[in-house]
Amino acid sequence: MDATAHTSDTNPDGAVAPRLGTRFLVFPQPPYVPGYENPEVVWLAPSAGRIMAGPSDRRMYVADPLELKRPYAYPDLPPYAGGLHPPAEPDADGHFDHITPDSPAFLATHSFACARRVLDIFEGYVGRDIRWFFEPTLSRLEIIPHIVDWDNAQSGFGFLELGESEPERMASRFALNFDSVAHEMGHLILLSELGLLEGDGAGSEFFAYHEAIADFASLLGLLHFDTAVDRILRRTGGNLMINNELDRFAELSDERQIRSFNNSLRAGDVGSEVHDHSKPFAGGLFDCLIEVYQSLLFERGLSDLDPRRFSNLRQQLAPDMLEVKLRPSRTDYETKHFASKAALQEARDIVGESVVRSWRLLDPDDVTFETAAEAFLTAAERGRGRAYVEQFEDCMRWREILW
Ligand SMILES: [Zn+2]
Repeated sequence: MDATAHTSDTNPDGAVAPRLGTRFLVFPQPPYVPGYENPEVVWLAPSAGRIMAGPSDRRMYVADPLELKRPYAYPDLPPYAGGLHPPAEPDADGHFDHITPDSPAFLATHSFACARRVLDIFEGYVGRDIRWFFEPTLSRLEIIPHIVDWDNAQSGFGFLELGESEPERMASRFALNFDSVAHEMGHLILLSELGLLEGDGAGSEFFAYHEAIADFASLLGLLHFDTAVDRILRRTGGNLMINNELDRFAELSDERQIRSFNNSLRAGDVGSEVHDHSKPFAGGLFDCLIEVYQSLLFERGLSDLDPRRFSNLRQQLAPDMLEVKLRPSRTDYETKHFASKAALQEARDIVGESVVRSWRLLDPDDVTFETAAEAFLTAAERGRGRAYVEQFEDCMRWREILW
C-alpha cells in the first residue's frame, strides 16, 4: 500500500477512512518488573500517517544524536544541531508497532509513545490541545531517547531527555521506563497549564506541588494500561480500600507508582525537601481515587463495603482487627472483574479531571497544598466529582492539608 494514501484519510474505494490512531509498543512498567515482560500495543491519538519518521508529529519529535551529547543546561537549548541517527520509520500503513524491543530504534519509538500517550491523556481531561509553555519560541518538544553515562531524566524548556548509566543494563535506561517519562511529562504539562512562577517561589509550595502532580501523572498514565489495571485488581481481589488502609499495596505491588502513593504520611510528618514534602498530598489524591472506586462498587452492588461508613479506618481500628473485620471474599471476584475495572477507570477519570480542572483556579506564585486542595474540591464540585466532595474533604483533612 502506498504510504501517501494515508494522509488523505481515504480508502482505496474513495470512502473516508475512520481515524483510529497510530499503533506503538509500550512497556507499562520496565520489562524487568515481573508481569510486565511484554510490551502492550497502544494507540496514540494522531491517526496513522500523521506521525512521521522519527517518530515525529506536530507536537513532539525524537532526536537521537550520533555524538556523545551532554544534558541540556541553559543557555544550551533545543533544537539539537548535531548529527542524528536515522529516524525510526513507520510501516506501510503508518504504524510503528513493527519496531520491537530488540530493534535499535526501539528506544526512540518507546520514549515518543510514552510521552505522546501522557499528552493524549491530559488533553482528554482538559478537553482541548495543551499549548507548550515554551511556545512560540519553540513549537515542538524535543525528546532525546538516550544520553550515555547519565543516570537521570530531565525536562525543561523544549526538551525531555532520558539517560542510561550502563547501556547494556536494561534497568539503567530511562527511555524504557514509562513511569519516568510520565513524571517528566507531568512537569511539562503542569508548567504549560498552571503557568510559570513570576517570583522565586518563596512562600509557596510550587515546587513540591509540581512533584506531587508529576507523580500523579505517572499514576494516571499507569491506570490507562490494561495490563496494569488487570494485574492490580486481580492481585487484590478488587478490594483496593483494605489494601490502601492497611498500607499493604506497598508490599503487594510491583508498580512503583502504587508503592509511592500508598503512604500514611500527614503534612506534619514530612520535611521540606520537595519530593518528601509532596507525599501527603499525593497520598491524599490516591485516597480520593480509592474512595470513588469503592463508592462506585458499593452503589453498583459489587461490594458490601460502604466507604462512607468505613472512611479513615486507620483511625478506628488496629490493623489486625481491620483485616479480620473486612477480609475480602475473593471467591466471587472473577465474575466482577470487568465491572470492577470499569469502576476503577471511572474513578481514575473523576479524580484526574478534578485535579486538571483545579489548575485554572490556582496562581503559580501562591500555590500551597491547602489552596491546591481547596481548588481540587471546587473543581470536583463543578464536575463529575460532585457526589464525592465530602469524601475528598475528609481525605485531605486526614492528611492535615485541610483543617
Ligand atoms: Zn520531578
